[in-house]
Amino acid sequence: MSTEPIKADTHFLRDTIYGLTEQIDLLTILQDLSKKIVSGFDFDQIINRFLDVVKEVVNYNACALFLYNEDLKTYRVVSSRGGPMKKFNDDVPDNKIVDWIIKEGRWTPIPNESKTPPKKFQSILPLCGMIKKLGFLFMISDQDEHCYNKTNMTILSFIADQAGIALENQNLYVQLNDSRKYINNIVESINNGIVAIDLSGEITLINKNATAILGIESGDVIGKSYREVFTDKLTKKIDSLIKKIINQGYVIETRFEHSPYKEFPITIGINASVLLDDNNNKIGIIFVFRDMLASMEIQRLLQQDEMKSEFVSNVSHELRTPLSIIKSYIEAILDQVDPEDYNTQRDFLNVVNKETDRLSGLVNDLLDISRIESGKYKISLTPVSLPEIIQSVIDNLKSETDSHNIITRIPSDLKPISADRDKMTQVFINLINNAIKFSPEGGEIEIQVIIMEKMLLCLIKDQGIGIAEECIPRIFDKFYRVDTSDTYEIPGTGLGLPIVKHIIKSHGGEITVKSELNRGSEFILSLPYGDSKQIK
Ligand code: ADP
Repeated sequence: MSTEPIKADTHFLRDTIYGLTEQIDLLTILQDLSKKIVSGFDFDQIINRFLDVVKEVVNYNACALFLYNEDLKTYRVVSSRGGPMKKFNDDVPDNKIVDWIIKEGRWTPIPNESKTPPKKFQSILPLCGMIKKLGFLFMISDQDEHCYNKTNMTILSFIADQAGIALENQNLYVQLNDSRKYINNIVESINNGIVAIDLSGEITLINKNATAILGIESGDVIGKSYREVFTDKLTKKIDSLIKKIINQGYVIETRFEHSPYKEFPITIGINASVLLDDNNNKIGIIFVFRDMLASMEIQRLLQQDEMKSEFVSNVSHELRTPLSIIKSYIEAILDQVDPEDYNTQRDFLNVVNKETDRLSGLVNDLLDISRIESGKYKISLTPVSLPEIIQSVIDNLKSETDSHNIITRIPSDLKPISADRDKMTQVFINLINNAIKFSPEGGEIEIQVIIMEKMLLCLIKDQGIGIAEECIPRIFDKFYRVDTSDTYEIPGTGLGLPIVKHIIKSHGGEITVKSELNRGSEFILSLPYGDSKQIK
């Protein structure tokens, strides 16, 4: 049997193994080089490593890395070795050649124009990224063209690709960092508190305003659950809001009493909405917290302003009506009524008298309010009989109406209470008069006194127009009047109830109201009773 084929096979195998070993070595080298270049996001570091690695392959004497400058629309040197950058910038290789080499995308020698020896080997290694052309490395070396071989070409094109990718990544990293900083700046400069959480409740973003508004001591809460970071009360609120948000997509909560520092409760408004990714999947929730103090103060000032203008128009109206009645009746007495007709004169003078009382009542209310505000409103307590006061007020007001049935239910054994007679009379005048005024259809007005252990309850109940639920909290504010078509014609200034409230409070009591629109109202006074110290 001939040994020739076996020999041939052995040679072939040896060559193959040798070739494979070379390939594996090359791959290992390339892997190492790649690692060197692509690790890290520092621009100078990437470039230096790239130039180092290329030097190992080509052993250039000088080189310059040109990158495309978008603003200047040309290639500029960003790094050089073996010569100053300026020199290379002035000596940019011919644009046409560069463009052709970059288009070809491979390492290419370029002609050396220099006539004087020693002859230098010049070459260009294009640098292409995944997204766009980046630039090229221009190299000058003493070596002859020997180094321009297939293996080196493979290695250099691989290195250039890696450097291109690394530079593009670095650029993206810078852009990402810039936009992160930009968004951070926006989030920090927003006046409201902003907190974002993911679906498991972990905080993914929080700005300084949020830590201030919510009273969170450390800003280092990213990655913690909001349940760990927020107070129990706020956590409960957020839990309940999350349920709503998941259904509705957003939620607006205008008032939440938050007391991170127990002594200073603050009112905050909370808006929240779901965060979605590009595919509209829910990825979290963003909360916006507003300190409502400033907006509430503005609202209060606006309300006050509105009340003042309302007051001016009410007071002018209230003054003008009795004044014009007085004037026309006096003119009639002077010009039209027979001087001998005493009866008509008397009737007219009675009208004048009543209108004068109305005027002085208004002026007194204004004076009372100003005394209350300046702290000069005084009461002087004496033992007074409540049934007597109530009866005298009813007697006086009865003449005002014939469509109301005023009834009293007062225990017969009621003892005197310690009160300011005039001021207490003013309270009942006001409340019973309101009961009459605000039941224009008539009906029953019931005044009931109930003796409790150490207090008296006085209920003044009518069947009138009632008060809308949202207006009830404001009816004791000065100048406030419910503004509806039903109340439009009913005279008043909105001063009665604040004065009443002040008088009752100065007697150590309270006033509350229950009311239902079109069903009637019930004012409830509670006053201290049977306290011997009270009765002088
Ligand atoms: P005024 O009676 O001069 O308007 P008040 O301070 O006494 O002012 O009352 C304030 C407002 O409260 C009234 O304008 C009215 O809108 C409402 N109000 C008071 N009493 C009643 C009542 N018995 N029924 C319905 N509304 C009432």
